[in-house]
Amino acid sequence: MIDRYRVRAAGPLGRPQWSTSRRTRAAPVPRTRRAESRMEKLQGIGVSPGVAVGEALVADNEGFRIPQRFVARDAVDHELERLDQAIRATGDEIARNRDVVRRELGEEYGGIFSAHLQMLQDPGLRRELDDMIRERHYSPEYAASRALRRYAKVFQNLENGYLAQRAGDIFDIEKRLLKNLLGQNREELAQLLSPVIVLAHNLTPSETANLSREFVRGFATEVGGPGSHTAIVAEGMEIPAVVGVGPFLSDVSGGDLVIVDGDHGLVILQPDEETVARYRYDVEQHRRRATRLESLRDLPAETADGVRIELAGNIEFPQEVAQCVSRGSDGIGLYRTEFLYLGAATEPTEETHYEAYSQVVRDMAGKPVVIRTLDLGADKALREEEDPSLRNPCLGLRSIRLSLKNLPLFRTQLRAILRASVLGDVRVMFPLVATLLEFRQAKMVLGDVIEDLEEEGIPCNPRVPVGMMVEVPAAVLMMDRFVDEVDFLSIGTNDLIQYTLAVDRSNKDVASLYNAADPAVLKLIRMALETANRAGTPVNMCGQMSGNPIYTMILLGLGLRRFSVTPSAIPEIKKTCRSVTVQQCQAVAARAMELENGRDIKSYLRDELKKVLPEMVN
Ligand code: PEP
Ligand code: MG
Repeated sequence: MIDRYRVRAAGPLGRPQWSTSRRTRAAPVPRTRRAESRMEKLQGIGVSPGVAVGEALVADNEGFRIPQRFVARDAVDHELERLDQAIRATGDEIARNRDVVRRELGEEYGGIFSAHLQMLQDPGLRRELDDMIRERHYSPEYAASRALRRYAKVFQNLENGYLAQRAGDIFDIEKRLLKNLLGQNREELAQLLSPVIVLAHNLTPSETANLSREFVRGFATEVGGPGSHTAIVAEGMEIPAVVGVGPFLSDVSGGDLVIVDGDHGLVILQPDEETVARYRYDVEQHRRRATRLESLRDLPAETADGVRIELAGNIEFPQEVAQCVSRGSDGIGLYRTEFLYLGAATEPTEETHYEAYSQVVRDMAGKPVVIRTLDLGADKALREEEDPSLRNPCLGLRSIRLSLKNLPLFRTQLRAILRASVLGDVRVMFPLVATLLEFRQAKMVLGDVIEDLEEEGIPCNPRVPVGMMVEVPAAVLMMDRFVDEVDFLSIGTNDLIQYTLAVDRSNKDVASLYNAADPAVLKLIRMALETANRAGTPVNMCGQMSGNPIYTMILLGLGLRRFSVTPSAIPEIKKTCRSVTVQQCQAVAARAMELENGRDIKSYLRDELKKVLPEMVN
């Protein structure tokens, strides 16, 4: 079970201390004012390390930022007037909608909007808003958001299902009112001007990829699991993130101070002064540790007894190559090319593919670049609503299956990869291969494309190394046959865990069952490594497990010598490798494999790492 708890700090209710305004008119609140002690700690799943402290942007219901929380004392009358106008404009809008719906669908449906109008014009609400602005000097936006969210929360907590759903109506009113209040000053998620922490029900991998690296300091979502691609993208972007928090958006308003603690999977709403100070100290510690690890950049990844380890980076976007190079990566072990499609309005052309690949290959200056062909489908869907009847997308038409069903799309990508293959050490990798036939089919298409390019006189490397991901148990079980056909292998633990344990990697409700240390997963990894090593076939691991130092010792002990990790994890994994001997790791692996459940194994591995590198374990 996900450990969820809420802590409400005791103390007098007061005014929020933190003014986040960047406008000249605001910030009248003295810093000495007592913090509103309504701190709330929520437990989720930390998926991208680091800590962020800042002002909330509640993406789901506003989709835009409340630019200030407080107004100057002498601006109160003007702000009340602004609220008045916005309520009137919102009321007119709702009345217009009511009339149209009444005409088109009848009185019953129009009634929904009449109820909205009644809520908006409720004298009690108006009094509350006026008081917040007059007494506490809240901005009308902040006051509206806080008051309406409190109402929504009351509805949500009602046992009656029908009434609980009315919370949605209140969010709708909030959204309309905020739109009218902010008018031209609306700052949307896509065009931020100052730092925020994004809080959302869900973020798709492509929405995450489009977050501003400059201004989004962290994010937290109500849903989402530990292996989701949203999590992976956040880690790639080096944004602290917590997913699977459960419902909390009605407890928070845009502009509230929040903390996202990606190391411990915590989201803290309305933190008190002491907590903020502690976390600001943590942010500084993180920065110092990263600086210390930077000194490893030019040292090789090798064990203390001199066994060389290949340590490459995983990327989703060409820009991430810089993060790999600056950390001394040995190459790109996994380039997730599907992100060229996600978020794109139209299907990428061969030239779009080629430009991205050639940039990566050139920037890696002769070091290996493993380009994985499209792994679309499952949580990397082009559009969520695309096929509502689709069940079990993880078991459906995804990944290599999708490429083999869409040959023009597959060939376009292969042409671009092959054209880029003359610019450096390019290798092609097929994802989610489950059967020999699938691999052979994919290889045949590749051979066909090579022939076409040769006929057209377009340079390419006809002997480009071809490998496959090992991410379904069937591939492990058939590994003795695959090793005769592939040039290299890469173990994708994110999916291997999902398919071995039948646990959706994106679902928070089964997150505690998604465990890389499960003995069944470890046995499959051991089998894959033994078979590949015996055959002399290079085998890498590119799932998130390889970037978590807790698993470095067992993986080295089981025979892994090639790791491909999220760029930010390169220094830590290098440090771990350099601190242990292979013999020591073999002993750890042997002991771990004797234990019978994932929880015990994980805790044993954590203890062993702590003995070697205490600072690496939280
Ligand atoms: C994996 O499954 O481990 C993997 C690396 O691929 P992805 O996370 O893109 O599915
Ligand atoms: Mg995968």
